[in-house]
Amino acid sequence: MPLEFLRRKGTGNPSSKAAVPEPAPPPPVPEEAVAQEHQLRLTFGAKTSTGVRLQGGPQLLAALPRMLDGLAMTEPEVVEPRVTTLASASPSIIRTEEATEWLRAHGANSPITRHALFVLESLDAIDPAYDTFACALLDGVVDPSGYPEYASIVGGVAAHWDESTGDLIVRGVVGWGGRGTRGDTDRIATRLLGRLLGNILESGEALGLTGVDRPGAGPAGTGVTCQHCGYPNVHPRAVYCPKCGMRMLHS
Ligand SMILES: [Zn+2]
Repeated sequence: MPLEFLRRKGTGNPSSKAAVPEPAPPPPVPEEAVAQEHQLRLTFGAKTSTGVRLQGGPQLLAALPRMLDGLAMTEPEVVEPRVTTLASASPSIIRTEEATEWLRAHGANSPITRHALFVLESLDAIDPAYDTFACALLDGVVDPSGYPEYASIVGGVAAHWDESTGDLIVRGVVGWGGRGTRGDTDRIATRLLGRLLGNILESGEALGLTGVDRPGAGPAGTGVTCQHCGYPNVHPRAVYCPKCGMRMLHS
């Protein structure tokens, strides 16, 4: 019985068309789109100390990790200045060439060190083109993958060679940040920076505090290339290379 009823309805009963409901009229086009908001606020911070002038030779670099004594919560990792063939390296994932160079330079470093480099390099607190950087977790915790939480503080000491005297200039560097902020992070970072500066001054080789003039090429395009390490941005009148500390040969 139900089959017969269906067939009869499907074969040309003129009233069946009228039984199909009219499609709903399209909704009117609104003046403005109804937007769903998406937003991400990232906050990063960093502090650097006054530089401390240390007299001595390249063996001083080996002493950098010890300047984190009593502060490092993880084994300090030393990051050498980047090789000059990776001159355009940048921790920017959408700039693929720069990101590839950055990973080639730092992909093997620990998650703590990579986080620290990302924060401090992005904020221009260190320059991995010539800075040697000894780094560790200084406060807070890491997530299950080993990356510092946003309120954790990372850092240590960064060093380069003074271009006029060849002394090693060492400064304390701390950084933090990510998806969030916490009220006491800044205060803790200031305290850690003070202790780092104290450790540098007590390292035994310190000659005293020094205003850190960032090494640089001076006016654009006047930089010269170090004959020893190939660093291309040495000041034309520099006596020493800020990256490798070797005496420049000026013809
Ligand atoms: Zn050099």
